[in-house]
Amino acid sequence: MQNPSRYLVTAALPYANGPVHIGHLAGCYLPADIYVRYLRACKKDVLFICGSDEHGVPITIRALKEGVTPQEVVDRYHPMIKESMERMGISFDIYSRTSHPVHHETAAAFFKKLHDDGYFEVKETEQYFDEKAGVFLADRYITGTCPVCGYEKAYGDQCEKCGSSLSPEQLIQPRSALSDAIPVKRKTKHWYFPLQRFEGWLKEWILEGHKEWKNNVYGQCKSWLENGLQSRAMTRDSHWGVKVPLPEAEGKVLYVWFDAPIGYISATKELTPRWQDYWCDNDTRLIHFIGKDNIVFHCIIFPSMLKAHGGFVLPDNVPANEFLNIEGDKVSTSRNWAVWVHEYLNDFPDAQDIMRYVLCANAPETKDNDFTWKDFQDRNNNELVAILGNFINRTWVLMHKLCSGKVPRLHENLLDDDDRWIMDEIKSAPQKVSNCIEQFKFRDALFEVMELARKGNQYMQKKEPWIKARQTDPDGKITAEAQQDIDNALHLCLQLTANLAILIHPFLPFTAKKMLHMMKVVDRMLFWENAGKLNLLSTGYSLRAPELLFRKIEDEEIQKQIEKLKAGLVPAEEKNASQLPDENAKAEISFQDFEKLDLRIGTVLTCEKVKNVDKLLKLEVDLGHEKRVIVSGIAQHYSPEELVGRQVVIVANLAPRKIKGIESKGMILTAEDANGNLHLLQPDQFTEPGSAVK
Ligand SMILES: [Zn+2]
Repeated sequence: MQNPSRYLVTAALPYANGPVHIGHLAGCYLPADIYVRYLRACKKDVLFICGSDEHGVPITIRALKEGVTPQEVVDRYHPMIKESMERMGISFDIYSRTSHPVHHETAAAFFKKLHDDGYFEVKETEQYFDEKAGVFLADRYITGTCPVCGYEKAYGDQCEKCGSSLSPEQLIQPRSALSDAIPVKRKTKHWYFPLQRFEGWLKEWILEGHKEWKNNVYGQCKSWLENGLQSRAMTRDSHWGVKVPLPEAEGKVLYVWFDAPIGYISATKELTPRWQDYWCDNDTRLIHFIGKDNIVFHCIIFPSMLKAHGGFVLPDNVPANEFLNIEGDKVSTSRNWAVWVHEYLNDFPDAQDIMRYVLCANAPETKDNDFTWKDFQDRNNNELVAILGNFINRTWVLMHKLCSGKVPRLHENLLDDDDRWIMDEIKSAPQKVSNCIEQFKFRDALFEVMELARKGNQYMQKKEPWIKARQTDPDGKITAEAQQDIDNALHLCLQLTANLAILIHPFLPFTAKKMLHMMKVVDRMLFWENAGKLNLLSTGYSLRAPELLFRKIEDEEIQKQIEKLKAGLVPAEEKNASQLPDENAKAEISFQDFEKLDLRIGTVLTCEKVKNVDKLLKLEVDLGHEKRVIVSGIAQHYSPEELVGRQVVIVANLAPRKIKGIESKGMILTAEDANGNLHLLQPDQFTEPGSAVK
């Protein structure tokens, strides 16, 4: 679409079921923000729309499990997500939420129109119902034994152990994941949207009309369309969501993927009375930024809904990204394998641009990519600090030292080949960056900006103003000839810095702001039409002292993050747990080996500290038929008073050992946690001393 009158840019609605992590940012919020900031700099009429997706089964399930209302769940996460986005500089024009009344009205009216136009097929089917919890169960919420491998915690849609695709009917002894009740089948009626009626149109519109879409997006659409589309239920049995606006649909709400994309329309309505200019005029260019898991909804289902409704523009492009992995492993919110944005901002306050830089430079634009803390450190230290920061800092320091803090004049008659080379580079850079941004190649665009900074360093190195400054006349003043050389070099380096501020701004807005402050210029300079100009800073204008734009990140900071990530990991059950090596694991033993141990319950009769030894306690333990003296290294965890009368587990047949002159006959069992604290084992109720432990 060439030169549309306006742009409408949306980013996938984050699900209000948890905080956002950096994979979300890399997937769609950061690229969308870069694109929108660029369009605004080009003085385009653009709206940037987003909000929380607050409906759907996982939220109701979570509420049920926690014993709170779904509203309480979304009220916890919506503000948290909103704040993380704001602090990262994601510049939405509105960040709304789908529980907003405007959204409920808009989505219900949308459904009603399709209903009145006769689009829906009503079908009655049997579905699993949890009588204890009073809800219909999505396949995922039914668990049971896998018929293929016998794994007892297989889901109704898949066995995580053997990977088999399942249906709830195939599970042996199915159970509700909510209440453990046995699910029963119940008849229920739903409204189905006939996607197959749009197949021909979709093929023409996407496969013929949008060959420019990214390969991953186009390819996924092609495969969906070639496999054939089917009717999809657009309603669910639930009380949480947008109520189906039909009298015969009591207790039913819209399917979350029917209502969520309509959220883009409702949020625009909420934002401006001119919303129809953006949604209903064909001269709007609508762009959906999403992650790859949402392609079918934004490229197939939502466009078919818009087409059926009529009167709305269709997306002109859907630049979906692939996934970002963390330290070589897939992000998993349930295992807490993620870098959470709010935690990052606590650990690295005011370092939004470093994360923005790393996520863009390593964006999963064409394939899944990996985020590692080491790469984060390297890119910061070797690129932001060493290339961009270094160039600007050198320019500022030299300008203050050799040109009295003012923009020196350019002596045009003295320009040499190096000067002309860097002038050409400045002039041609904006077009290279624009071309990449307009094709949604944000990594390449950022690379071009950094390339200009790199050339700035090369230019500075060739001109060596600090060497020229040694050419002095007898009274120690820099010669007029040398000063003119210095003036030219620093004049061009300053113009280059002003250009870098414009070009880097969509990517690193916080850094661009600091640069404006150093240059004492106003935001207006950041308009893209100024990029490539060589007169952005006027001769004689005095500039501020240099500010530190980036700082080096030390190894310890990175080590801390890696440890934090690993410490937070929640081990997954069985399959995943077995993939995590346990450093304390010992070789397998036979049952006969185990039987050699004589484990007994004992009651502590007396207890005292062993003299002159910090760690040891001497205990007298009743083992029923005999009393034993045992020395145990638990003095730093328990006081003698705490132990008298308490029951413990003893290894009774351990060979006696002399410890500090005392013969110890047996060993008391403790559990050691990750922090090295010892916890005594004891039976959960009083047990006759001497009882065997098996
Ligand atoms: Zn299985």
